[in-house]
Amino acid sequence: MEILVFNNLTRSKEVFKPINPKEIRFYSCGPTTYNFLHVGNARAAVVADLFHRTLKAFDYNVKFVRNFTDVDDKILETARTRGIHPREHAQEFIKECLIDYDHLGMLPASVMPLVSETMPEIIAMIAELIKKGYAYKVPKDGGEEVLYNVPKFTDYGKLSKVQLDSLQHGIRVETDGHKKHPSDFVLWKPAKPDEGWSWESPWGQGRPGWHIECSAMAKKHLGDTIDLHHGGVDLIFPHHENEIAQSEAANGCPFCHNWVHNEFLNFGSEKMSKSLGNVVTIRKFTETYSGAILRHILLSVHYRSKLEWTEDSISKAISEIERIHEFAISLYGTHKSRDIHAGEIEKVKKAFIDIKKELANDFNVPGAMGVFFGVIKDYNRIVKDGCADEYIYAVMDIVNFMKLATGLIHDYPEEVLRQLNLARKHLSGTSNAGGEAEIEGLLIERKEARATKNWGRSDEIRNRLTELGVVVKDNPDGSYSWSYK
Ligand SMILES: [Zn+2]
Repeated sequence: MEILVFNNLTRSKEVFKPINPKEIRFYSCGPTTYNFLHVGNARAAVVADLFHRTLKAFDYNVKFVRNFTDVDDKILETARTRGIHPREHAQEFIKECLIDYDHLGMLPASVMPLVSETMPEIIAMIAELIKKGYAYKVPKDGGEEVLYNVPKFTDYGKLSKVQLDSLQHGIRVETDGHKKHPSDFVLWKPAKPDEGWSWESPWGQGRPGWHIECSAMAKKHLGDTIDLHHGGVDLIFPHHENEIAQSEAANGCPFCHNWVHNEFLNFGSEKMSKSLGNVVTIRKFTETYSGAILRHILLSVHYRSKLEWTEDSISKAISEIERIHEFAISLYGTHKSRDIHAGEIEKVKKAFIDIKKELANDFNVPGAMGVFFGVIKDYNRIVKDGCADEYIYAVMDIVNFMKLATGLIHDYPEEVLRQLNLARKHLSGTSNAGGEAEIEGLLIERKEARATKNWGRSDEIRNRLTELGVVVKDNPDGSYSWSYK
Protein backbone atom coordinates (compact mmCIF):
# COMPACT_ATOMS: atom_id res chain seq x y z
CA MET A 1 0.00 0.00 0.00
CA GLU A 2 1.30 3.48 -0.89
CA ILE A 3 1.92 5.76 2.07
CA LEU A 4 1.01 9.42 1.73
CA VAL A 5 2.98 11.95 3.76
CA PHE A 6 2.29 15.66 4.08
CA ASN A 7 5.66 17.13 3.12
CA ASN A 8 6.20 20.60 4.53
CA LEU A 9 8.85 21.30 1.91
CA THR A 10 6.15 21.32 -0.80
CA ARG A 11 3.19 21.95 1.52
CA SER A 12 1.42 18.98 -0.08
CA LYS A 13 0.61 15.33 0.50
CA GLU A 14 2.93 13.13 -1.52
CA VAL A 15 3.52 9.44 -2.08
CA PHE A 16 6.36 8.45 0.23
CA LYS A 17 9.25 7.13 -1.88
CA PRO A 18 12.24 6.15 0.25
CA ILE A 19 15.73 6.28 -1.30
CA ASN A 20 16.29 2.67 -0.26
CA PRO A 21 12.94 0.94 0.47
CA LYS A 22 14.84 -1.68 2.47
CA GLU A 23 15.88 0.91 5.03
CA ILE A 24 14.09 4.19 5.63
CA ARG A 25 16.36 6.95 6.94
CA PHE A 26 14.43 8.84 9.59
CA TYR A 27 15.70 11.62 11.86
CA SER A 28 13.76 13.34 14.64
CA CYS A 29 15.08 16.22 16.75
CA GLY A 30 15.27 15.05 20.34
CA PRO A 31 15.16 16.92 23.65
CA THR A 32 17.70 18.97 25.58
CA THR A 33 18.28 16.99 28.73
CA TYR A 34 18.62 19.54 31.52
CA ASN A 35 15.49 18.68 33.50
CA PHE A 36 12.43 16.42 33.48
CA LEU A 37 10.49 16.76 30.22
CA HIS A 38 7.11 18.45 30.37
CA VAL A 39 3.90 17.16 28.83
CA GLY A 40 4.33 19.65 25.97
CA ASN A 41 7.51 17.78 24.92
CA ALA A 42 5.66 14.47 24.92
CA ARG A 43 3.68 15.17 21.78
CA ALA A 44 6.74 15.42 19.50
CA ALA A 45 8.22 12.29 21.09
CA VAL A 46 5.04 10.22 20.67
CA VAL A 47 4.43 11.48 17.11
CA ALA A 48 7.97 10.43 16.11
CA ASP A 49 7.24 7.05 17.67
CA LEU A 50 4.01 6.86 15.67
CA PHE A 51 5.90 7.40 12.37
CA HIS A 52 8.48 4.81 13.39
CA ARG A 53 5.82 2.25 14.37
CA THR A 54 3.48 2.80 11.42
CA LEU A 55 6.30 2.47 8.88
CA LYS A 56 7.37 -0.76 10.61
CA ALA A 57 3.77 -2.03 10.57
CA PHE A 58 3.81 -1.46 6.79
CA ASP A 59 6.87 -3.78 6.66
CA TYR A 60 9.55 -1.15 6.18
CA ASN A 61 12.86 -1.40 7.98
CA VAL A 62 13.41 1.96 9.62
CA LYS A 63 16.68 3.37 10.82
CA PHE A 64 15.38 5.88 13.31
CA VAL A 65 17.81 8.41 14.78
CA ARG A 66 16.70 10.64 17.66
CA ASN A 67 19.37 12.71 19.36
CA PHE A 68 19.84 14.01 22.87
CA THR A 69 21.17 17.56 23.17
CA ASP A 70 23.56 17.07 26.07
CA VAL A 71 25.67 20.20 25.40
CA ASP A 72 23.67 23.36 26.02
CA ASP A 73 23.75 26.60 28.04
CA LYS A 74 21.01 25.44 30.43
CA ILE A 75 22.82 22.17 31.12
CA LEU A 76 26.06 24.04 31.85
CA GLU A 77 24.26 26.49 34.14
CA THR A 78 22.30 23.89 36.10
CA ALA A 79 25.35 21.65 36.49
CA ARG A 80 27.31 24.63 37.80
CA THR A 81 24.70 25.41 40.44
CA ARG A 82 24.66 21.74 41.44
CA GLY A 83 28.46 21.64 41.55
CA ILE A 84 28.71 18.63 39.24
CA HIS A 85 30.14 18.02 35.75
CA PRO A 86 27.68 18.93 32.97
CA ARG A 87 28.08 15.43 31.51
CA GLU A 88 26.88 13.93 34.78
CA HIS A 89 23.89 16.27 34.90
CA ALA A 90 22.93 15.55 31.27
CA GLN A 91 23.34 11.78 31.74
CA GLU A 92 21.04 11.85 34.74
CA PHE A 93 18.22 13.42 32.72
CA ILE A 94 18.85 11.24 29.66
CA LYS A 95 18.10 8.28 31.95
CA GLU A 96 14.94 9.99 33.26
CA CYS A 97 13.88 10.80 29.71
CA LEU A 98 14.26 7.16 28.66
CA ILE A 99 12.09 6.11 31.62
CA ASP A 100 9.42 8.60 30.44
CA TYR A 101 9.64 7.25 26.87
CA ASP A 102 9.15 3.76 28.23
CA HIS A 103 6.08 4.86 30.23
CA LEU A 104 4.71 6.38 27.02
CA GLY A 105 4.99 3.02 25.27
CA MET A 106 7.61 4.23 22.78
CA LEU A 107 9.78 1.80 20.83
CA PRO A 108 13.50 2.50 21.25
CA ALA A 109 15.12 4.53 18.45
CA SER A 110 17.77 2.73 16.37
CA VAL A 111 20.42 5.27 17.37
CA MET A 112 20.31 7.91 20.14
CA PRO A 113 23.40 10.04 19.50
CA LEU A 114 24.76 12.64 21.90
CA VAL A 115 26.34 15.96 20.93
CA SER A 116 29.29 15.23 23.22
CA GLU A 117 29.99 12.07 21.22
CA THR A 118 29.66 13.71 17.78
CA MET A 119 32.32 16.39 18.18
CA PRO A 120 34.76 15.19 15.42
CA GLU A 121 31.91 15.11 12.87
CA ILE A 122 30.60 18.52 13.99
CA ILE A 123 34.06 20.08 13.71
CA ALA A 124 34.63 18.45 10.28
CA MET A 125 31.34 19.85 8.95
CA ILE A 126 32.10 23.36 10.20
CA ALA A 127 35.56 23.19 8.60
CA GLU A 128 33.95 22.12 5.31
CA LEU A 129 31.52 25.07 5.47
CA ILE A 130 34.41 27.50 6.04
CA LYS A 131 36.34 25.96 3.14
CA LYS A 132 33.38 26.38 0.79
CA GLY A 133 32.75 29.98 1.88
CA TYR A 134 29.48 29.25 3.72
CA ALA A 135 30.94 30.13 7.11
CA TYR A 136 33.29 32.78 8.47
CA LYS A 137 35.31 33.39 11.60
CA VAL A 138 35.21 36.42 13.86
CA PRO A 139 37.31 37.07 16.96
CA LYS A 140 35.35 36.74 20.21
CA ASP A 141 36.14 36.26 23.91
CA GLY A 142 39.82 35.68 23.20
CA GLY A 143 39.06 32.91 20.72
CA GLU A 144 37.23 32.59 17.42
CA GLU A 145 33.53 32.34 16.76
CA VAL A 146 32.34 30.67 13.55
CA LEU A 147 29.15 31.94 11.93
CA TYR A 148 27.08 30.61 9.04
CA ASN A 149 26.93 33.03 6.13
CA VAL A 150 23.18 32.82 5.42
CA PRO A 151 22.93 35.03 2.26
CA LYS A 152 25.51 32.78 0.55
CA PHE A 153 23.02 29.87 0.65
CA THR A 154 20.59 30.94 -2.07
CA ASP A 155 17.98 28.30 -1.18
CA TYR A 156 17.59 29.71 2.34
CA GLY A 157 13.89 29.83 3.28
CA LYS A 158 12.75 26.94 1.10
CA LEU A 159 11.21 25.06 4.04
CA SER A 160 9.85 27.91 6.17
CA LYS A 161 9.10 30.16 3.13
CA VAL A 162 10.78 32.95 5.06
CA GLN A 163 12.20 35.70 2.83
CA LEU A 164 15.72 36.67 3.70
CA ASP A 165 15.09 40.32 2.75
CA SER A 166 12.23 40.55 5.22
CA LEU A 167 14.49 39.12 7.93
CA GLN A 168 16.99 41.93 7.44
CA HIS A 169 14.31 44.44 8.44
CA GLY A 170 11.99 42.23 10.43
CA ILE A 171 14.14 41.06 13.31
CA ARG A 172 16.05 42.89 15.97
CA VAL A 173 19.56 43.45 14.76
CA GLU A 174 22.25 41.96 16.97
CA THR A 175 23.72 44.61 19.21
CA ASP A 176 27.29 43.30 19.09
CA GLY A 177 27.25 43.73 15.33
CA HIS A 178 29.82 41.04 14.55
CA LYS A 179 27.41 39.26 12.19
CA LYS A 180 27.55 40.12 8.51
CA HIS A 181 23.80 39.52 8.24
CA PRO A 182 21.31 39.43 11.14
CA SER A 183 20.23 35.90 10.13
CA ASP A 184 23.75 34.50 10.35
CA PHE A 185 23.90 31.95 13.14
CA VAL A 186 26.58 30.45 15.36
CA LEU A 187 28.27 27.22 14.38
CA TRP A 188 31.05 27.31 16.96
CA LYS A 189 31.56 29.50 20.00
CA PRO A 190 34.65 30.01 22.14
CA ALA A 191 34.50 28.60 25.67
CA LYS A 192 34.22 30.98 28.60
CA PRO A 193 36.76 30.32 31.36
CA ASP A 194 34.35 28.78 33.90
CA GLU A 195 32.01 26.86 31.60
CA GLY A 196 33.27 23.45 32.59
CA TRP A 197 32.84 21.57 29.32
CA SER A 198 34.55 22.43 26.03
CA TRP A 199 36.41 20.88 23.11
CA GLU A 200 39.59 21.60 21.23
CA SER A 201 39.00 22.78 17.65
CA PRO A 202 40.84 24.60 14.81
CA TRP A 203 39.16 27.76 16.24
CA GLY A 204 40.36 27.20 19.79
CA GLN A 205 38.66 25.69 22.83
CA GLY A 206 34.89 25.92 22.47
CA ARG A 207 31.60 24.19 21.78
CA PRO A 208 29.11 24.01 18.91
CA GLY A 209 26.00 26.12 18.36
CA TRP A 210 22.71 24.22 18.51
CA HIS A 211 21.77 23.75 14.82
CA ILE A 212 24.96 22.07 13.60
CA GLU A 213 24.52 18.98 15.80
CA CYS A 214 21.51 17.64 13.87
CA SER A 215 23.21 18.10 10.49
CA ALA A 216 26.32 16.29 11.76
CA MET A 217 24.38 13.48 13.48
CA ALA A 218 22.10 12.86 10.48
CA LYS A 219 25.17 12.64 8.19
CA LYS A 220 27.05 10.38 10.59
CA HIS A 221 24.23 7.87 11.12
CA LEU A 222 22.04 8.16 8.03
CA GLY A 223 24.16 9.61 5.22
CA ASP A 224 24.06 12.84 3.21
CA THR A 225 20.43 12.55 2.05
CA ILE A 226 17.66 11.23 4.28
CA ASP A 227 14.01 10.24 3.70
CA LEU A 228 12.16 11.74 6.61
CA HIS A 229 12.88 14.48 9.14
CA HIS A 230 10.56 15.34 12.01
CA GLY A 231 10.14 17.91 14.77
CA GLY A 232 7.54 20.19 16.29
CA VAL A 233 6.28 23.13 14.18
CA ASP A 234 8.32 25.44 16.42
CA LEU A 235 11.47 23.92 14.89
CA ILE A 236 10.66 24.78 11.26
CA PHE A 237 12.26 28.18 11.64
CA PRO A 238 15.05 28.72 12.24
CA HIS A 239 16.27 25.27 13.37
CA HIS A 240 15.24 23.12 10.40
CA GLU A 241 15.89 25.89 7.89
CA ASN A 242 19.41 26.14 9.32
CA GLU A 243 19.88 22.36 9.22
CA ILE A 244 19.08 22.45 5.48
CA ALA A 245 21.50 25.34 4.92
CA GLN A 246 24.32 23.55 6.75
CA SER A 247 23.82 20.06 5.30
CA GLU A 248 23.20 21.05 1.69
CA ALA A 249 26.09 23.52 1.61
CA ALA A 250 28.51 21.06 3.24
CA ASN A 251 27.40 17.90 1.41
CA GLY A 252 26.50 19.45 -1.95
CA CYS A 253 23.25 17.45 -2.29
CA PRO A 254 19.65 17.54 -1.02
CA PHE A 255 19.43 16.96 2.74
CA CYS A 256 15.96 15.52 3.22
CA HIS A 257 13.08 14.58 0.92
CA ASN A 258 10.18 14.76 3.42
CA TRP A 259 9.84 17.22 6.28
CA VAL A 260 7.08 16.45 8.80
CA HIS A 261 6.04 18.58 11.77
CA ASN A 262 3.58 18.06 14.58
CA GLU A 263 1.40 20.88 15.88
CA PHE A 264 1.41 22.13 19.47
CA LEU A 265 -0.37 20.82 22.47
CA ASN A 266 -2.42 23.63 23.95
CA PHE A 267 -3.17 23.41 27.61
CA GLY A 268 -6.39 25.26 28.31
CA SER A 269 -5.93 27.29 25.12
CA GLU A 270 -2.60 28.60 26.31
CA LYS A 271 0.53 27.09 24.84
CA MET A 272 2.08 24.87 27.43
CA SER A 273 5.45 26.17 28.23
CA LYS A 274 7.68 26.25 31.23
CA SER A 275 7.74 30.01 31.09
CA LEU A 276 3.98 30.11 31.71
CA GLY A 277 4.48 28.35 34.97
CA ASN A 278 1.89 25.60 34.50
CA VAL A 279 4.52 22.94 34.61
CA VAL A 280 3.28 19.43 34.27
CA THR A 281 6.09 16.97 33.79
CA ILE A 282 5.55 13.71 31.93
CA ARG A 283 6.75 11.91 35.06
CA LYS A 284 4.21 13.61 37.30
CA PHE A 285 1.44 12.85 34.85
CA THR A 286 2.34 9.19 34.34
CA GLU A 287 2.72 8.61 38.08
CA THR A 288 -0.63 10.25 38.79
CA TYR A 289 -2.56 8.76 35.86
CA SER A 290 -0.62 6.54 33.47
CA GLY A 291 1.56 6.64 30.38
CA ALA A 292 -1.18 4.85 28.43
CA ILE A 293 -3.60 7.71 29.16
CA LEU A 294 -1.12 10.38 28.09
CA ARG A 295 -0.26 8.48 24.89
CA HIS A 296 -3.96 8.05 24.12
CA ILE A 297 -4.64 11.78 24.55
CA LEU A 298 -1.60 12.75 22.46
CA LEU A 299 -2.73 10.56 19.56
CA SER A 300 -6.42 11.48 19.84
CA VAL A 301 -6.14 14.14 17.13
CA HIS A 302 -4.18 14.12 13.88
CA TYR A 303 -0.54 15.13 14.39
CA ARG A 304 -0.94 18.20 12.13
CA SER A 305 -3.89 19.54 14.16
CA LYS A 306 -3.56 21.56 17.35
CA LEU A 307 -4.36 19.44 20.38
CA GLU A 308 -6.52 21.29 22.87
CA TRP A 309 -6.25 19.84 26.36
CA THR A 310 -9.69 20.11 27.93
CA GLU A 311 -11.13 19.22 31.32
CA ASP A 312 -12.55 15.95 30.06
CA SER A 313 -9.48 14.85 28.01
CA ILE A 314 -8.45 12.43 30.75
CA SER A 315 -11.87 10.92 31.47
CA LYS A 316 -12.57 10.51 27.75
CA ALA A 317 -9.23 8.71 27.30
CA ILE A 318 -9.95 6.47 30.29
CA SER A 319 -13.27 5.26 28.91
CA GLU A 320 -11.83 4.64 25.42
CA ILE A 321 -8.82 2.74 26.75
CA GLU A 322 -11.18 0.73 28.94
CA ARG A 323 -13.35 -0.18 25.96
CA ILE A 324 -10.28 -1.31 23.97
CA HIS A 325 -8.80 -3.43 26.75
CA GLU A 326 -12.04 -5.05 27.93
CA PHE A 327 -12.44 -6.06 24.29
CA ALA A 328 -8.82 -7.38 24.19
CA ILE A 329 -9.44 -9.52 27.30
CA SER A 330 -12.56 -10.99 25.73
CA LEU A 331 -10.90 -11.52 22.32
CA TYR A 332 -8.03 -13.56 23.77
CA GLY A 333 -10.35 -15.45 26.14
CA THR A 334 -12.33 -18.59 25.30
CA HIS A 335 -15.25 -18.59 22.89
CA LYS A 336 -18.08 -20.99 22.31
CA SER A 337 -17.77 -22.10 18.68
CA ARG A 338 -20.64 -21.40 16.31
CA ASP A 339 -21.11 -20.53 12.66
CA ILE A 340 -21.73 -16.89 11.91
CA HIS A 341 -22.89 -15.09 8.80
CA ALA A 342 -20.12 -14.95 6.16
CA GLY A 343 -20.88 -11.25 5.67
CA GLU A 344 -19.56 -10.53 9.17
CA ILE A 345 -16.16 -11.98 8.27
CA GLU A 346 -16.06 -10.00 5.02
CA LYS A 347 -16.94 -6.86 6.98
CA VAL A 348 -13.99 -7.35 9.37
CA LYS A 349 -11.59 -7.96 6.49
CA LYS A 350 -12.79 -4.76 4.83
CA ALA A 351 -12.37 -2.86 8.11
CA PHE A 352 -8.73 -4.02 8.22
CA ILE A 353 -8.13 -2.55 4.76
CA ASP A 354 -9.85 0.68 5.82
CA ILE A 355 -7.66 0.93 8.94
CA LYS A 356 -4.53 0.49 6.81
CA LYS A 357 -5.78 3.12 4.35
CA GLU A 358 -6.32 5.61 7.20
CA LEU A 359 -2.84 5.08 8.63
CA ALA A 360 -1.30 5.18 5.14
CA ASN A 361 -3.03 8.54 4.67
CA ASP A 362 -0.51 10.74 6.49
CA PHE A 363 -0.69 8.68 9.69
CA ASN A 364 -4.36 9.34 10.40
CA VAL A 365 -4.76 7.71 13.80
CA PRO A 366 -8.21 9.22 14.60
CA GLY A 367 -9.49 7.85 11.28
CA ALA A 368 -8.09 4.38 12.01
CA MET A 369 -9.45 4.43 15.56
CA GLY A 370 -12.92 5.33 14.27
CA VAL A 371 -12.95 2.16 12.13
CA PHE A 372 -11.44 0.14 14.97
CA PHE A 373 -14.16 1.15 17.44
CA GLY A 374 -16.70 0.00 14.83
CA VAL A 375 -14.98 -3.41 14.81
CA ILE A 376 -15.17 -3.55 18.62
CA LYS A 377 -18.87 -2.69 18.55
CA ASP A 378 -19.63 -5.46 16.02
CA TYR A 379 -17.48 -7.91 17.93
CA ASN A 380 -19.30 -7.26 21.21
CA ARG A 381 -22.63 -7.87 19.47
CA ILE A 382 -21.55 -11.04 17.67
CA VAL A 383 -19.47 -12.75 20.35
CA LYS A 384 -22.20 -12.90 23.01
CA ASP A 385 -23.58 -16.17 21.63
CA GLY A 386 -20.23 -17.67 20.63
CA CYS A 387 -18.18 -17.14 17.52
CA ALA A 388 -16.45 -18.66 14.48
CA ASP A 389 -12.67 -19.08 14.68
CA GLU A 390 -12.20 -17.42 11.31
CA TYR A 391 -13.89 -14.26 12.60
CA ILE A 392 -11.80 -14.23 15.78
CA TYR A 393 -8.58 -14.61 13.78
CA ALA A 394 -9.58 -11.80 11.40
CA VAL A 395 -10.17 -9.49 14.38
CA MET A 396 -6.84 -10.56 15.93
CA ASP A 397 -5.05 -9.56 12.68
CA ILE A 398 -6.43 -6.04 13.11
CA VAL A 399 -5.42 -5.91 16.77
CA ASN A 400 -1.86 -7.03 15.99
CA PHE A 401 -1.50 -4.40 13.29
CA MET A 402 -2.97 -1.59 15.41
CA LYS A 403 -0.83 -2.62 18.36
CA LEU A 404 2.40 -2.19 16.39
CA ALA A 405 1.31 0.80 14.28
CA THR A 406 -0.15 2.98 17.05
CA GLY A 407 0.99 1.55 20.39
CA LEU A 408 -2.54 2.23 21.68
CA ILE A 409 -3.26 -1.42 22.52
CA HIS A 410 -1.14 -2.69 25.36
CA ASP A 411 0.07 -6.06 26.60
CA TYR A 412 -1.41 -7.16 29.93
CA PRO A 413 -4.86 -5.57 29.50
CA GLU A 414 -5.83 -6.50 33.09
CA GLU A 415 -2.97 -4.33 34.35
CA VAL A 416 -4.11 -1.49 32.08
CA LEU A 417 -7.62 -1.70 33.56
CA ARG A 418 -6.17 -1.62 37.09
CA GLN A 419 -4.23 1.57 36.22
CA LEU A 420 -7.37 3.11 34.75
CA ASN A 421 -9.20 2.37 37.96
CA LEU A 422 -6.57 4.21 39.98
CA ALA A 423 -6.61 7.09 37.50
CA ARG A 424 -10.37 7.33 37.83
CA LYS A 425 -10.00 7.40 41.59
CA HIS A 426 -7.50 10.22 41.33
CA LEU A 427 -9.69 12.12 38.90
CA SER A 428 -12.77 11.87 41.12
CA GLY A 429 -10.65 13.19 43.98
CA THR A 430 -12.56 10.97 46.41
CA SER A 431 -10.73 11.79 49.62
CA ASN A 432 -12.11 8.88 51.61
CA ALA A 433 -11.56 6.40 48.79
CA GLY A 434 -10.21 3.17 50.20
CA GLY A 435 -6.98 1.45 49.36
CA GLU A 436 -7.09 -1.34 46.85
CA ALA A 437 -6.06 -3.93 49.45
CA GLU A 438 -9.03 -3.09 51.68
CA ILE A 439 -11.43 -3.19 48.76
CA GLU A 440 -10.11 -6.52 47.46
CA GLY A 441 -10.37 -7.92 51.01
CA LEU A 442 -13.97 -6.73 51.38
CA LEU A 443 -14.88 -8.22 48.01
CA ILE A 444 -13.53 -11.64 48.98
CA GLU A 445 -15.44 -11.43 52.28
CA ARG A 446 -18.57 -10.39 50.39
CA LYS A 447 -18.28 -13.40 48.11
CA GLU A 448 -18.00 -15.70 51.13
CA ALA A 449 -20.93 -14.01 52.89
CA ARG A 450 -23.09 -14.43 49.81
CA ALA A 451 -22.03 -18.07 49.38
CA THR A 452 -23.04 -18.82 53.00
CA LYS A 453 -26.21 -16.68 52.60
CA ASN A 454 -25.04 -14.33 55.40
CA TRP A 455 -27.09 -11.43 54.04
CA GLY A 456 -26.53 -9.18 57.10
CA ARG A 457 -22.76 -9.19 56.62
CA SER A 458 -23.16 -8.90 52.84
CA ASP A 459 -25.22 -5.69 53.31
CA GLU A 460 -22.65 -4.22 55.73
CA ILE A 461 -19.89 -4.82 53.21
CA ARG A 462 -21.95 -3.28 50.42
CA ASN A 463 -22.47 -0.13 52.52
CA ARG A 464 -18.74 0.10 53.31
CA LEU A 465 -17.87 -0.26 49.60
CA THR A 466 -20.34 2.54 48.78
CA GLU A 467 -18.62 4.74 51.38
CA LEU A 468 -15.30 3.97 49.68
CA GLY A 469 -16.71 5.11 46.34
CA VAL A 470 -16.64 1.63 44.82
CA VAL A 471 -19.09 0.22 42.31
CA VAL A 472 -19.24 -3.57 42.03
CA LYS A 473 -20.45 -5.25 38.86
CA ASP A 474 -21.66 -8.85 39.29
CA ASN A 475 -21.45 -11.02 36.19
CA PRO A 476 -23.84 -13.87 35.39
CA ASP A 477 -21.05 -16.45 35.76
CA GLY A 478 -20.52 -15.48 39.41
CA SER A 479 -17.37 -13.42 38.77
CA TYR A 480 -17.28 -9.70 39.55
CA SER A 481 -15.36 -6.57 38.74
CA TRP A 482 -15.18 -3.23 40.47
CA SER A 483 -14.31 0.36 39.71
CA TYR A 484 -14.38 3.73 41.41
CA LYS A 485 -17.50 5.79 40.80
ZN1 LIG B 1 17.39 19.20 15.05
